[in-house]
Amino acid sequence: MGGSSPCASCKLLRRRCAKECIFAPYFPSNDPQKFAIVHKVFGASNVSKMLRELPVHQREDAVSSLVYEATARVRDPVYGCVGAISYLQNQVSELQMQLSVAQAEILRIQMQLEPAMLTPIDQDDKTSLFSSNNFNINNSPHPQYINFASSSTNLIQDLLGGEYLWT
Ligand SMILES: [Zn+2]
Repeated sequence: MGGSSPCASCKLLRRRCAKECIFAPYFPSNDPQKFAIVHKVFGASNVSKMLRELPVHQREDAVSSLVYEATARVRDPVYGCVGAISYLQNQVSELQMQLSVAQAEILRIQMQLEPAMLTPIDQDDKTSLFSSNNFNINNSPHPQYINFASSSTNLIQDLLGGEYLWT
């Protein structure tokens, strides 16, 4: 923690790291790549100039932004971070399209189910209501995989068994 070790910027620029070094708070010596990439793309003196023009509380955000932009520029020299932005925008619109397709499908299924749900509950519907309550006490270790038909068959057998006991 001694002030003797220079920040990543001064180390790379081979100069003495002064106490008021503008880079020191944002480019620690344990992350040399962070400054190297910003220096490569923008140049140390430009970065220093940009930081000096900003109030202290905005400098850290500015550095993050410069690092992000420099990394994108190295990765994609033609489009830089514009490439990343348009890629993500394409993904967003593609996912929005998938979402509306899925929502339309849900609506379609709901409209198919609705007539059945509106009919008065008859005996079969009562048993299926009971059987859904019976899911958890079934012997299967994976109750969520039990299909509805086999569960309600079990219930009908239980009910019949009960009736036999009573008679
Ligand atoms: Zn320094």
